[in-house]
Amino acid sequence: MDKRKRVGKESPSFKHGHTLNRGASSEYSSWANMITRCTNPNFKDWKYYGGRGITVCEEWRNSFAAFLRDMGPKPKGTSVDRFPNNTGNYEPGNCRWATPFEQQHNKQKPTHCRRGHSIQGSNGYLRKDGRIQCRICKTESTRRLRARKRASRESQ
Ligand SMILES: [Zn+2]
Repeated sequence: MDKRKRVGKESPSFKHGHTLNRGASSEYSSWANMITRCTNPNFKDWKYYGGRGITVCEEWRNSFAAFLRDMGPKPKGTSVDRFPNNTGNYEPGNCRWATPFEQQHNKQKPTHCRRGHSIQGSNGYLRKDGRIQCRICKTESTRRLRARKRASRESQ
């Protein structure tokens, strides 16, 4: 009798060895959903993904193990985010685990300040609250503030 046969009671859904350890592995469902979004026109959000020509790279499409290897374990409360290129594909180097807050931030990242200066590159800098501040406007408002102080000193 070969006792090993009884130990390895394999069911197809446990083939990747991940579902067993963590219940319905959330990495696995993220992976499956990502592929569905890009390949199944009947899926409700398909129009934002597959419908826009967004694809999952071949290696990830064919292998959950490859996806998991490149992405690492999924932190709680996150999902797959295409970053830094939000209009790019699902592929290594353009994906991360991110919270809804982080994903929203990525999408809304402005390219110009309210007064129309480009804030890409060195003219934009990150404030403590995570927003991008325009250096030109910042310099101008500092100058205006100084001028106002000077004016009030002179009128006294
Ligand atoms: Zn500005």
